Amino acid sequence: MKVKKKVKTIKIDVDKCNGCRACEVICASFHAAPKYSSNNPARARIRLIRDPIRDVFVPVYAGEYTASECMGRDKYVIDGKEYDECGFCRASCPSRDVFKEPDSGLPLKCDMCEDDPSLKEPMCVQWCLAEALTYEEREEEVEEEVTLGDMELGLKSLVDKHGLQQLVDSVARMSQKG
Ligand code: SF4
Ligand code: SF4
Repeated sequence: MKVKKKVKTIKIDVDKCNGCRACEVICASFHAAPKYSSNNPARARIRLIRDPIRDVFVPVYAGEYTASECMGRDKYVIDGKEYDECGFCRASCPSRDVFKEPDSGLPLKCDMCEDDPSLKEPMCVQWCLAEALTYEEREEEVEEEVTLGDMELGLKSLVDKHGLQQLVDSVARMSQKG
């Protein structure tokens, strides 16, 4: 069934990014529990792929989790700058450490800063003084889909890693311990 959906995106202008990493810090801090209690960029849902010597700064925000590694690694040359392999990829995948919660290894995904009350713009966009990030909203007709929240994404990655039965057994043991 087709439904109207508000599609939220962050447009990225890599030429404007100066590598300050404010987006990483505010994202990690805003999503800390309790809010603003820590600011470890490893917990951010936006990461800066950086190579200052070659003037390469690519802010990438976390997309879907995938249990598989991609088969090919491409290089891109844009305006004389070489961007390598995973540079533009938004996936939380087994090949690299970004977009994984550092303690648990569970995948992180950008939520466009869903909050109550809602934000006027996502936090990383608000904090990017270089205006490399621009928030955009549009309405689209799309097939109805079930979107997974943080909890479901985490459980899915645990099932992929350990198998459903082991997860069920672990939860059963935990509930016995009370
Ligand atoms: S806050 Fe803006 S300029 Fe700074 S690293 Fe992030 S995207 Fe780049
Ligand atoms: S939109 Fe929010 S959750 Fe997504 S990367 Fe920016 S600060 Fe993080």
